[in-house]
Amino acid sequence: MWDFSTEPDFQEKLDWIERFMEDEVYPLETLDLTPEQLERATAPLKQLVKDTGLWACHLDPELGGQGFGQMKLALMNEIIGRSLIVAPPIFGNQAPDSGNAEILAIAGTDQQKDRWLWPLLDGRLRSCYSMTEPGAGSDPTLLTTRAVRDGDEWVINGHKWFSSRAAKADIIIVMCVTDPEQPPISRMSMFVVPADAPGVNVVREVGVLGLGEAHHAEVIYDNVRVPADHLLGDEGGAFVIAQKRLGPGRIHHCMRWLGQGRRAFDMLCERALTRFTHGSVLSEKQTIQSWIADSYAEMQAARLMTLHAAWTIDQHGTSKARTEIAAIKFFGAKVLHDVIDRAMQIHGSLGMSNDLPLETMYRHARVARVVDGPDEVHRVTVARRVLKGYKPHDGLWPSEHIPTRREAARQKFADLLDEATSDL
Ligand SMILES: Cc1cc2nc3c(=O)[nH]c(=O)nc-3n(C[C@H](O)[C@H](O)[C@H](O)COP(=O)(O)OP(=O)(O)OC[C@H]3O[C@@H](n4cnc5c(N)ncnc54)[C@H](O)[C@@H]3O)c2cc1C
Repeated sequence: MWDFSTEPDFQEKLDWIERFMEDEVYPLETLDLTPEQLERATAPLKQLVKDTGLWACHLDPELGGQGFGQMKLALMNEIIGRSLIVAPPIFGNQAPDSGNAEILAIAGTDQQKDRWLWPLLDGRLRSCYSMTEPGAGSDPTLLTTRAVRDGDEWVINGHKWFSSRAAKADIIIVMCVTDPEQPPISRMSMFVVPADAPGVNVVREVGVLGLGEAHHAEVIYDNVRVPADHLLGDEGGAFVIAQKRLGPGRIHHCMRWLGQGRRAFDMLCERALTRFTHGSVLSEKQTIQSWIADSYAEMQAARLMTLHAAWTIDQHGTSKARTEIAAIKFFGAKVLHDVIDRAMQIHGSLGMSNDLPLETMYRHARVARVVDGPDEVHRVTVARRVLKGYKPHDGLWPSEHIPTRREAARQKFADLLDEATSDL
């Protein structure tokens, strides 16, 4: 069955989120608060979200979430994503904690969940995901950070970077090679490393496009010892866990980008109708009309692709939705970038300035094309998976070669053609 409608009960929740964003969240964006002040300002809002049953909706009810599934989450995140930095923590689904909670939910033992997952969901712990290395990013088979078993402990040595929020985290989920002799897919394991363990050295925070406070740490793990029960899931199981984490993580980004794109589009349209120059308002110029039409169509395509990927995950699981997730990851990032770019352009100098949110949104949109896997890698995934549905064609000519097809058709319909010519 095909259906584009929203259940009335759920629409009420979406309407509540819209009002809450207008009244409580957007005003906070404009204040220059310290992290502590922001924490104090958002604590009652988080409680309100919890009381309304909208906290950590990405998780199943037994994990303290609402078990909404990806479709409903997409509709929610589309609204929350309008305020990319302030809103997600208020709804308990900010990166990287949301993805890390999913790892602990998927792979953690009961003891590990008691120790790390519940406090993380309550906001009492902060977490980091440490996979990327200076020599290995989009190809995790090249990772070199090593964990070696020593009695009841594992000893970790390695060099990571872009471990977002490592400096502020309580726990770091670290991806390490545990058996280099195994094939890449079963060579690596994940460990929970307390951020204050001896040997965890945050070398520096790496700044990114001048996006506020730098969060992306370079970390040296120097003979870091963790007890054996800090291994997450099976030894050699990290690759499978990472895929399970990154799939939903990527689609959650795409959902939030719909909100970011829509916000830029609203600004584009408002300005088009308002600004008078060279004899008319901008909305009467054909170039501007093209921008509006192109943005509208591209955003609609991205929205439907995102919702379809979310629906596929709900119906068939993340691994069956890999093509859809990879396709919207690179397509959604491009649409986001292009719509924000046009919105900046129509505002002229004001669009470049930090009097509008567009320049910050633009920088986030640029990062979107790399974070959680660069565009090119997702394109490779889509192409490879799509090509599995095809096979090479035998012979000199392609299967659609008209002379060859015509000859085959002549043979197939020889009787008919003979009749036709004999009637003449
Ligand atoms: C803001 C930010 C936050 C991040 N946070 C985290 C985090 O918390 N934890 C973490 O572990 N990592 C994090 N990362 C790292 C991120 O996941 C990696 O940057 C990403 O996977 C790419 O890896 P790389 O930077 O090593 O690039 P590389 O793997 O070196 O790729 C560089 C470029 O090579 C090209 N390329 C690569 N492969 C192919 C291919 N198959 N075909 C064609 N071209 C190709 C692409 O143009 C690509 O952009 C973060 C990155 C950013 C920017």
